[in-house]
Amino acid sequence: MYNQGILKGKRILITGISSKSSIAFGIAKAMYQQGANLAFSCKTNKLKNKISLFSSELGSSIVIPCDVDKDQDIKDLFKKLSNIWINFDGFVHSIAYAEKCNLHGDFIDTISKDIFQTAHNISSYSFIAMAKECKKMLNKNASLVTLTYEGSQKVIPYYNIMGLAKASLEANVRYMAYTLGENMIRVNAISAGPISTTSSYSIKDFKKIFNFSKLIAPMRKLVTSKEIGNTAAFLCSDLSKGITGQVIYVDGGVNISKINIS
Ligand code: NAD
Repeated sequence: MYNQGILKGKRILITGISSKSSIAFGIAKAMYQQGANLAFSCKTNKLKNKISLFSSELGSSIVIPCDVDKDQDIKDLFKKLSNIWINFDGFVHSIAYAEKCNLHGDFIDTISKDIFQTAHNISSYSFIAMAKECKKMLNKNASLVTLTYEGSQKVIPYYNIMGLAKASLEANVRYMAYTLGENMIRVNAISAGPISTTSSYSIKDFKKIFNFSKLIAPMRKLVTSKEIGNTAAFLCSDLSKGITGQVIYVDGGVNISKINIS
């Protein structure tokens, strides 16, 4: 339907939609409106029918289940995708997971090696694992985008293990950008301001973070998935060819503010 736009002719794989409130849905919509051809992956087979309904609204019938905690699922994802697309122009990694008990309790008292490893595997390692598996299918000037949060840099109450996993993810972005740069493939992260989603609501008191972020934001408002989506579209387009290895804040400026007394 959208034949024009900054992503005209580009093929992009979108991960991490579980509902229409998912940030990845906002990204997919923005990319579709910019002319991209889209494919989708979702965590489980059970989600496939639901995501197929969303994907058909966005001109795509490609939905492939992939639990990124399973190496074989990642291999299968790209094997199946390669039967439809021989090559493509990038993917959006919009996936994170941590055990709720650590996002609701005392950081030290509720941590375990298992909780630490699971959060890092799913929220950080999976980004490299996907890149490793599809590297050969990526076109010149392809772009990989992941989603992070300011809790990687500063203590945000109850963000806990996700803060560590996001710090790892942001370091990944830099090392992946360096390694893939010689193939003219770019890698960036968007550090999004708080958005109401299943993931954010699994963090205790996140509502307070919303309210505080709104209070200190220079723009006096929270960002929307559409605004994040438009930035992701830009990062996957040739307009951002000079940008790689960056963490780009799309948070209405929250990260620059400490307090707003107006
Ligand atoms: P969401 O719950 O809608 O999306 C998270 C997605 O991760 C879900 O679709 C879920 O199915 C997927 N996922 C979890 N484990 C998986 C696995 N093993 N295999 C495959 N998929 C798996 O929430 P969201 O807020 O849209 O989160 C998307 C990304 O944005 C996450 O990386 C999150 O940390 C990041 N982010 C969110 C906010 C926010 O305020 N919502 C802010 C900054 C960054």
